Amino acid sequence: METHTNNAQVTPMDTAPVEKTPEAPAMTGMPFAEMQLVEPLQKALKVKNYTHASPIQEQAIPHLLEGKDLLGSAQTGTGKTAAFALPILQRLAAAGSRRATPCAPRALILSPTRELAHQIADSFVAYGKFMKLRLTCVYGGVSQYGQVRDMQRGVDILIATPGRLLDLEDQGYIKLNEIEIFVLDEADRMLDMGFVNDIKRIVAELPQKRQSLFFSATLSREIVELSKSMLTDPVHVTITPQFTTAEKIDQRVCFIQKADKLALLTELMKNNAQGLTLVFNQTKHGANRLSETLAKAGFRSTAIHGNKTQAARKNALDGFRSGFYKTLVATDVAARGIDVKGITLVVNFDMPDEPESYVHRIGRTARAGAEGLAISFCTNEDVESLHGIQRLIKKTIPTFNEHPWHSSDVEQGATRPIQRGQGGGNSGGGYRRRQGGGGRGGRPSFRGGASRGGYSRDGGGESRGEGFSQAGGERRSGPKRSTPQSGGFRSAGGGQRRPSFR
Ligand code: AMP
Repeated sequence: METHTNNAQVTPMDTAPVEKTPEAPAMTGMPFAEMQLVEPLQKALKVKNYTHASPIQEQAIPHLLEGKDLLGSAQTGTGKTAAFALPILQRLAAAGSRRATPCAPRALILSPTRELAHQIADSFVAYGKFMKLRLTCVYGGVSQYGQVRDMQRGVDILIATPGRLLDLEDQGYIKLNEIEIFVLDEADRMLDMGFVNDIKRIVAELPQKRQSLFFSATLSREIVELSKSMLTDPVHVTITPQFTTAEKIDQRVCFIQKADKLALLTELMKNNAQGLTLVFNQTKHGANRLSETLAKAGFRSTAIHGNKTQAARKNALDGFRSGFYKTLVATDVAARGIDVKGITLVVNFDMPDEPESYVHRIGRTARAGAEGLAISFCTNEDVESLHGIQRLIKKTIPTFNEHPWHSSDVEQGATRPIQRGQGGGNSGGGYRRRQGGGGRGGRPSFRGGASRGGYSRDGGGESRGEGFSQAGGERRSGPKRSTPQSGGFRSAGGGQRRPSFR
C-alpha cells in the first residue's frame, strides 16, 4: 500500500519490515486462514495478530468478495472497517485489474469526519501493507495542495469527507466516473451532520455499474430509504440490534448536583488512573474549560472538538492514544472518530442532547471485544435526557451512588413518575444508601477501609496492549504523508485495567 504524500518518493510495500503488533483483542468468528483472502492480506492480518474474524467480518467478507452490495447495520467497534477494507483491497488488487488513472480513483469511501477518514486510511494501509495499491485521504480544514497532487498522481482508494470531495470535483481534480466500489460509512452520522444532499450529489456522479456498501449504526426509515437509492439487491448484515448498547459496557448513572460534577469526575479519573478516560462535554468552550481545569489539577488532559484545527485534533488524539494524555474531553461531533483501545472509562459529564449520541459516546469504550465502563452524570436538568436514553436503549441504567456526591433529591426527581408542574422532591423515602460510613459528613468516601464504597479497581481487568498500531510504524523513516498516520506519540502499550463495581 502506498499512501500519497507531498513527497513523491514511495517505498515498495513488499519490502516493508514485518513488525508484529503485540496483542489484538480475541475474536471468536471464523479463522481468517479459512477465509478466501489472498496471501498478502493473510500476511498483513498476521502482522496485526488478528487470527479470527469478528461477526461482521465473518458475515460480510464472503459476499463482498463476490461483488455483492451490502447494507450493514453495525456500530464502530465491531470490526466493520476491516469487513469492508479486506474485500476491497482484494478486489482492487485482483490479477489483471487495471491501475488507477490520474484524478479517477477506483474505490471511494465516504466518511463523515476527518478523524474517521484517518482511521479508515490507517486500516487500509495496515491491511494493504503487502499490496501495491495507492491511497489518499481528502477532507476539509487543511490546504488542498497535497490532496490535489495525490489525486493527479492517481490513487486506487480515495477516502473522503463529502464537502472537500465535491469541492475538488468541482475544480476538476477528482473524477468519479471510474469508481468500481463505493462505501458510505456511518450514514446516520452523515445525515445528522447535514450531508444528505452532498451524498445524493456524489452518488449521482458514480457509474451505475459498481459495488456499493452502506453502513449505519442505526437504521431509521430515512436511512433505509437513502440506502435503497444506492444499493442493488444488497445482502443485509445486522450486528448489534438497533439501539442496544454494547453488552460489554458497564453503564451507570450518578445522580448529582451540578456543582459537584467536577469533584466526582476527578475522583473517577483517579480510580481509572491505569486506563484512559474520555469525558463528554456539551459545548466546545465547556470542553476547553474542563480540560484546562483538569490540567491545572494535575491531570494530563486535552480537548477535541470541531473548533480545533486538524493538526490540534490529530495531536490530541495521538497523545491520548499513546497514553500521554490520560484524559480527553470531547464534544459529540468528535465522538465517532475516537477509536482508541485503552479507553476504560467514558464519563458523560454533560448528558447528550440526543439519545442516539449516548450510544455513540459510550461505544468509545469496550472497543473490539474489550470491556468498559460508562458513567453518566444526571443533574435535575438532565432527567428528561436520561429518560430519553433509557427509552432508546430499552433499559434502566443502574445507579452508582457509592460516592460522596450522590444526590438523593436528583435521584428521586428522576425515578418517580413525572408530573407536570412538580419540581425536584425531598430527600428521604425511597433512597437507600448502602453501607459506607467514614467519609465527610457521614458520607461514604472513596478511600480507606470499608468506606471505599463500591468503587474499586478490578484486578481481573483488561491487560491488553494496543491491539493495533498506527500505520505510521511501517514507514517511520519514509516521506511525510498527507494522511497523518505516523503520530508523534507512540503507544506505551502495557497493561490496562478497567475500573469496575464490585
Ligand atoms: P472498527 O469497528 O472497524 O472501528 O474496529 C474496531 C477495532 O477492532 C479496531 O481497532 C480494529 O483494529 C479492531 N479489529 C478489527 N477486526 C479485528 C479482528 N478480527 N481481530 C482483532 N481486532 C480487530
